[in-house]
Amino acid sequence: MVSALEILRKIFGYNEFRGNQLEIIEQSIAGNDALVLMPTGGGKSLCYQIPAIIRKGTGIVISPLIALMQDQVDALLQLGVKAAFLNSTLDTQSALRIEKEVQEGKFDLLYVAPERLLTPRFLELLDNIDIALFAIDEAHCVSQWGHDFRPEYVKLSFLHEKFPDVPRIALTATADDPTRSEIIEHLGLSDAKQFISSFDRPNIRYRIVQKRNSREQLQRFLETEHQSDAGIVYCLSRRKVEETAQWLCNKGFDALPYHAGMSNQERQKNQQRFIREEGIIIVATVAFGMGIDKPNVRFIAHLDLPKSMEGYYQETGRGGRDGMPANAWLAYGLGDVITLRHMLDSSEADEHHKKLEKRKLDALLGFCETTLCRRQVLLNYFGEAYRASCQNCDNCLEPVETWDGKIAAQKALSCVYRTDQKFGVKHLIDVLLGKMTPQVERFRHEKVSAFGIGNEYSQQQWNSIYRQLVAANLLSVDMRGYGGLRLTEKSMPILRGEKTIALRKDLEPQRKQAKKSAKREQKLTSIPNDELWQTLKNKRMELAREQGVPPYIIFHDSTLIEIHEKKPRTLPEFAGISGVGQSKLVRYGKAFIEVICQET
Ligand code: ADP
Ligand code: ZN
Repeated sequence: MVSALEILRKIFGYNEFRGNQLEIIEQSIAGNDALVLMPTGGGKSLCYQIPAIIRKGTGIVISPLIALMQDQVDALLQLGVKAAFLNSTLDTQSALRIEKEVQEGKFDLLYVAPERLLTPRFLELLDNIDIALFAIDEAHCVSQWGHDFRPEYVKLSFLHEKFPDVPRIALTATADDPTRSEIIEHLGLSDAKQFISSFDRPNIRYRIVQKRNSREQLQRFLETEHQSDAGIVYCLSRRKVEETAQWLCNKGFDALPYHAGMSNQERQKNQQRFIREEGIIIVATVAFGMGIDKPNVRFIAHLDLPKSMEGYYQETGRGGRDGMPANAWLAYGLGDVITLRHMLDSSEADEHHKKLEKRKLDALLGFCETTLCRRQVLLNYFGEAYRASCQNCDNCLEPVETWDGKIAAQKALSCVYRTDQKFGVKHLIDVLLGKMTPQVERFRHEKVSAFGIGNEYSQQQWNSIYRQLVAANLLSVDMRGYGGLRLTEKSMPILRGEKTIALRKDLEPQRKQAKKSAKREQKLTSIPNDELWQTLKNKRMELAREQGVPPYIIFHDSTLIEIHEKKPRTLPEFAGISGVGQSKLVRYGKAFIEVICQET
């Protein structure tokens, strides 16, 4: 029998296994069940693909993501692995042909949707073939409490009853304990060995900037760091999606909108372009992302806050699946805090639910305001012990200074109190700065003791102070009015001067600029940007177009980067590149060697 390592090297063209891949593979090869928890981009596919290739018979992969099956099968075919899928996108004739080939034992891997698997017809087919294993991908779909619940998934427990000797491997990137228990219970995996990886995504750089003019900030971010990269920009509303996409196009970017208000056809078209072309930016509501497997998404930008830490982790997790550096950039400001607090307070959910939502929002705002390593806060939220400073988040790269905000907070809260807890931030700041605005005159707020007591700080600084007070629950947003701020029980000790508070010093825009240029040096340096790189990319695009597949199916960026760096001029040299297995060597070696010989 060939070893797993040989398959890894010959077929996939990789040198070593990552993390616990080999252990997982050995578990399956030995015929035992496994439960695999690994983050996105961790390398789950190999864990069932290699045992399926090695074991006798066909590996049956169950996945709810029909849209991805074509890609997965295309990628395997490129590697010379015999694979197919059966789902509702196939016409009857193609389905019949594939069924016949399955019967003949032609495939190492067969992808099916759960509803298809459960049909009597398919089960009969299974009765007549050798099954190497069952891989249950996206196993968290059994969770009734999760967002991706699939009723068919619960029925998959019968696989074990019907085929007790076929090993099963369940895989998911959803990490929490309740989901894990549900998977074990519903799929009958209590005897399965569990393989739990760290959920850290070390190649993603987390950064949160204070919102000023978020579009221009986004533009600057893209121009300095992602000139021609593919990425996703998330916005909360459909309108903002449309406007932002248009605005980016006007600025010379290839941006496309994606939201639930568009026709299915338009959405499909934009998604396809994002996947098949290079350097496309998708501007989307959270509706976009599930079932997107594009590995070379180089940035995720949030113009609005995500709903929760879970949402943030999932959305940012769509960047850098290929393991290459990716940026998670979020613009955050007082307006976001007020909107979200307001939305939560005015929600009609029951008390228990509201409490839960409030805790989630608090965690998210705490993450935005933290002065600690973001990775640490993020992973700790998911129950993972992580104590280091990662050196790949804004707070690690540019430590945040804090200052004693005791007096400032006292003044800010007192201003709320003296103006009867009815007013929004703009007015409160006007009062603190002693401005005679029409509103101040109308309410005679020049008479209150807080009037003009805040001249030591600018409008911008008061804005930052109020944002931090609301984020820390020292002020709440009035749900009846129009975002007026009210004191909370937590504000009393501060107001009375019994407690102090450390506030973060937000960088002033000019300073931030200066620092940024220094930081540019450390940005995604490993991605080249010269003529050879462009030519290599063009060649890859050309080959992809010829076959109607996305460019990353030919070679991932990481492979292309290594080609760019090592400039192989012979086939044996080319074979040494990571990601070049036997099949791709034969298919593409010559074409890329020619490019290198011509260009250098
Ligand atoms: P997941 O399904 O966990 O999101 P994938 O299986 O798609 O992750 O793998 C993510 C990326 O890592 C892919 O580009 C894959 O080819 C690559 N990869 C997986 N295992 C290895 C390995 N041992 N060495 C190098 N690259 C790997
Ligand atoms: Zn960090």
